Amino acid sequence: MPDAQLPVVIAGGGIGGIATALACARRGIASIVCERRAPNAQDGAGIQIGPNGTRILAQLGVAERLLPQISVPEGIAVHSGKEGRALARLPLGDWIKQRHGSPYWTAHRGDLHAALIATAAEAQLITIINDAEVASYCEGDDRVDAHLVDGRRIAGRILIAADGLWSRLRAQIAPTAALVKSAGKCAYRSVIARDQIPAGLNLEDVHVWLGSGSHVVHYPVRAGRECAIVVIVDDEATFDAWNTAADTGWQERHAAAIPPALREALGSLGGWRMWSLATVPPLAGWTKSRAALLGDAAHPVLPFLAQGGVLALEDAVTIAARLCEAPGNEAAALRAYELERRGRALAVARASAANGRIYHLDGIMRLARDSVLGAVPASALMARYDWLYGWRLLAPADRETVSQ
Ligand SMILES: Cc1cc2nc3c(=O)[nH]c(=O)nc-3n(C[C@H](O)[C@H](O)[C@H](O)COP(=O)(O)OP(=O)(O)OC[C@H]3O[C@@H](n4cnc5c(N)ncnc54)[C@H](O)[C@@H]3O)c2cc1C
Repeated sequence: MPDAQLPVVIAGGGIGGIATALACARRGIASIVCERRAPNAQDGAGIQIGPNGTRILAQLGVAERLLPQISVPEGIAVHSGKEGRALARLPLGDWIKQRHGSPYWTAHRGDLHAALIATAAEAQLITIINDAEVASYCEGDDRVDAHLVDGRRIAGRILIAADGLWSRLRAQIAPTAALVKSAGKCAYRSVIARDQIPAGLNLEDVHVWLGSGSHVVHYPVRAGRECAIVVIVDDEATFDAWNTAADTGWQERHAAAIPPALREALGSLGGWRMWSLATVPPLAGWTKSRAALLGDAAHPVLPFLAQGGVLALEDAVTIAARLCEAPGNEAAALRAYELERRGRALAVARASAANGRIYHLDGIMRLARDSVLGAVPASALMARYDWLYGWRLLAPADRETVSQ
């Protein structure tokens, strides 16, 4: 095959990798996705998808397929973890749909991934290879070759590394990138069937319980048949844990961090898995000639705005648009993608980290936070996120205006 007709090679078939393949296919660009896991491997728990994400899922033809599995929360109920009282109720439902032209959904991450894969399976321009771990790549004049750990080589005109937080390709594309480091927090997650949910856990809406040095979030998934719960605690000690089964003593160890109103309910639940939250300081660059990082590989963000997966969707449609606009000049297209996305990813990472600090305040600062939450109108609190949920892919003319 002439190099100019080679497909785009995507390392990693998670949310970002499959969405990139779909976005490329919609623009007539063929791709090969190399995913290290076996087909149908699933992990994770719940995922919140803001309007900036559901808009993209609709554009990619994924939303309709996912629709039977989602919930549409009417609001975010914020509670004081210590006292159990309601602090605020931020509007979602019709309010956010009308404001941003697209809904706010909650879903099981496995359902989102399955919908992405099923949509990709119908696209003729997408090939997904499982059990295909990319170890490195090399670049020729007009092509790249991805080297798999089993010795296979996959040729493409560019390589997009969507291989997640623990990206193996990051070091090759961004050699000055620092290593992944602990964020000093650990997330304990579980998904529980509706009929096993103890009294005290409201199943509708998104609920956030603000503790001291901790917070709890729960919301419906699988169209309300299940509930996803995450307890996030300040904890430096468990950095090695990444999606591992939580030991039975974790709730006792973190008893002070769990809101009293939830202790009994959470104590009766099983199936907890733990994720140490980790970050990478902003990279000096995301691209190197014909290779680019995307999603968590480029810009892992802490989960306190529920935006990491959605940012990967935004990356996906941006990179496909820029590739389509610069046929034959892939390196320039990748640079345009990076230029357009870096500021946005940094802003989301900062806002998310700030939320994490606010959620875990203690003492007088906690009381001040609670009074502000009670005093400011809920719609005004949500309007502060218009920049986040209102994101849209820029047309070339708009990009020129922005850069002037
Ligand atoms: C506790 C928690 C809660 C979260 N909640 C939300 C939320 O509510 N909303 C939201 O939008 N985001 C949320 N996120 C963030 C979100 O999960 C990530 O940002 C998102 O998964 C990033 O997608 P990705 O495709 O970049 O990486 P991943 O989803 O990590 O996908 C990477 C893929 O690459 C594969 N891979 C890895 N290395 C290789 C290799 N060398 N070769 C081939 N394949 C490889 C992996 O198997 C995987 O399939 C949360 C994260 C956490 C930890």
